[in-house]
Amino acid sequence: MEADTPPDVASSIFAKIASGQIPVQTVYEDDFVIAFPDITPVAPIHILVIPKVCIRDISCISQLTPAEAAGFLNGIAKTADVCGLGVGGFRTVMNTGVEGGQTVPYLHAHILGGRQLSWPPG
Ligand code: AMP
Repeated sequence: MEADTPPDVASSIFAKIASGQIPVQTVYEDDFVIAFPDITPVAPIHILVIPKVCIRDISCISQLTPAEAAGFLNGIAKTADVCGLGVGGFRTVMNTGVEGGQTVPYLHAHILGGRQLSWPPG
C-alpha cells in the first residue's frame, strides 16, 4: 500500500480484501486484481474486480503505473471470460464519487451479466 493512501481508502473493506485480511470467494485473481461476488447482487452474475494497489476511484487512475492500470483492465476482461460472459455480453460499471453512487472508497469495477440489461441506468 502507498504511504500517501488516504485513511478512508486504506481502511475500506476492499483494502482489507485486497490485502487478504478479509477472505472472499475468489472468482479470478492474478498479480494485479482480485475478483469476487458482490454481496448484494443486482444481476444473475454480479462480480466486483478490485486492483491490488489501493486507490480511491477511476479518477485517480494516473496513480497506477501503466502496467498496473492495464492489469486492472485485463483483470476485468479475464473475470468476464471466467464467468462465461464472453458470448452473451456484460456491463462494466465504475461508480465514482457521491453523484456516481460510489459507496466504497476503493476503486472497483462491477461486472454485471446473465440477463438483458436496460439503458439508461437509474
Ligand atoms: P459501489 O456502490 O459502486 O461503491 O459498490 C460497492 C459494492 O460493494 C456494493 O454493490 C455492495 O453490495 C458491495 N459490497 C460491500 N461490501 C462487500 C463485501 N464485503 N463483499 C462483497 N461485496 C460487497
